[in-house]
Amino acid sequence: MDYTSRSSVIIVGAGVSGENRHRNNSLLSLLLRIAAAKVLAENGVKDLMILEASDRIGGRIRKENFGGLSVELGAGWIAGVGGRESNPVWELASKLGLRTCFSDYSNARFNIYDRSGEIFPSGIAADSYKKAVDSAIQNLRNQELGEPPSSPSIPKTPIELAIDFILHDFEMAEVEPISTFVDLGEREFLVADERGYEYLLYKMAEDFLHTWEGKILDSRLQLNKVVRELHHSNSGVTVVTEDGCIYEADYLILSVSIGVLQSDLIAFNPPLPRWKSEAIEKLDLIVYTKIFLKFPYKFWPSGPEKEFFIYAHDRRGYYTFWQNMENAYPDSNILVVTLTNEESKRVEAQSDTETLKEAMEVLRDMFGPDIPNAIDILVPRWWNNRLQRGSYSNYPIVSNNLQLLQNIKAPVDRIFFTGEHTSERFNGYVHGAYLAGIDTSKSLLEEMNREIKERKSESQSLMLEPFRACTAASLTNLSQTDKVSSSPHKCDIPTQKYLSGKVGFPEAIL
Ligand SMILES: Cc1cc2nc3c(=O)[nH]c(=O)nc-3n(C[C@H](O)[C@H](O)[C@H](O)COP(=O)(O)OP(=O)(O)OC[C@H]3O[C@@H](n4cnc5c(N)ncnc54)[C@H](O)[C@@H]3O)c2cc1C
Repeated sequence: MDYTSRSSVIIVGAGVSGENRHRNNSLLSLLLRIAAAKVLAENGVKDLMILEASDRIGGRIRKENFGGLSVELGAGWIAGVGGRESNPVWELASKLGLRTCFSDYSNARFNIYDRSGEIFPSGIAADSYKKAVDSAIQNLRNQELGEPPSSPSIPKTPIELAIDFILHDFEMAEVEPISTFVDLGEREFLVADERGYEYLLYKMAEDFLHTWEGKILDSRLQLNKVVRELHHSNSGVTVVTEDGCIYEADYLILSVSIGVLQSDLIAFNPPLPRWKSEAIEKLDLIVYTKIFLKFPYKFWPSGPEKEFFIYAHDRRGYYTFWQNMENAYPDSNILVVTLTNEESKRVEAQSDTETLKEAMEVLRDMFGPDIPNAIDILVPRWWNNRLQRGSYSNYPIVSNNLQLLQNIKAPVDRIFFTGEHTSERFNGYVHGAYLAGIDTSKSLLEEMNREIKERKSESQSLMLEPFRACTAASLTNLSQTDKVSSSPHKCDIPTQKYLSGKVGFPEAIL
């Protein structure tokens, strides 16, 4: 094993998106680590080390070229805009001129196709929708009280199943009320910018990492470093990576996803305490997959009110939710279908050719047999990616959620946990990850300051010890002046070295 380095703080996880570091246009896109690292750097902690397992940064913010466009495989929307509180990600996007398009999901319910290609009349769709919302609210209440769902609410027909899927897997997948929409606003904007969502992160990172022409040229960011072991105690943390490197630090911020924490990718030594591992296990993991299909020409209706459409099948979640990219990118001829959870896992396990065949059958149900075959398909695999193991966290509907959240967030020894899953109000979202990163780095700075103060007062009392001993022995023979002037020479304690030697705290936070 190679000994590599010692830092004040190691940050594990640095989703860098874009392309390989050695190719052009490598843009970084880690929001959370960037947020955490930025706050630390601004507070004088310069000897940071960011260890990222993949060959790119950005994590779940990730663009890829598809069909001549830049498409977002992970986070695509800035959700929660226009409310009483401002969304920091929206602020940043506005400041930097990121191109976005307003998405009006509410129209989707008026574009529900049955298997013979007929659109359900709006009255029927509206009735089914209202019935489903009422029963979803009732079910949420029942779950909170620990009661089973009431039987009339169980969806049976294809349209009921489709609406149930939209409500539960999209709009109401979280515990109501959803802070993102209540506090930040109900509007959502699709990022439709060739520079990608990651552009925001790159601009943030520029403030404290050395970059050149879109590439990060800073040795504090280490790519391809899969952390496999974390040895921790109350005096420091040692990290062992898959390639056999060892890194030591006074503190560590762990920002891997809840899916990674639930897997055995990282071994903790000693193992995490029970309250921590039980909390990690309790969180639900949502798998959310956007499948992109490129066609030679457009055959679907377009216009702002036609952006989203729904396929009602007797199997719940079977290629249900569709979006055409025409509003964002006119003439792109790209459709996106979203699958979740079991359907996502099923599709991840099969070949893309098989998935394409299924998707085409569904589209032919809706738009007739004469539509052209897709010429390209892109199927992201978030579930099978060992660095993600899912798309985002979901807190179960239980009464003691606050305790669960506190346990998820709480540090263990000198390991601080962060990531979207640690966000109190906005878990599952980019702005949640961003705010969690800031929050965690602030808690870490507080802890560092507390320790410094403790060490300072320890060293001051050490300085006074010999003085007290000598004054006690000869107090009666010395004048006041003698006492004061003799103490510094006798008490030769290297205060500064003691303070900065092991812990290595920067002057700025002393
Ligand atoms: C398909 C999809 C759609 C989404 N849509 C939206 C949306 O529209 N709007 C929205 O706001 N949010 C959306 N999200 C959620 C949003 O992307 C996440 O909440 C947010 O990006 C999470 O950021 P994070 O920093 O917590 O984690 P991540 O971005 O996952 O970063 C964790 C990093 O840790 C690294 N890592 C993992 N294991 C190790 C290890 N052992 N050693 C070293 N590094 C490791 C990973 O490679 C990764 O870079 C979506 C997510 C997905 C997947």
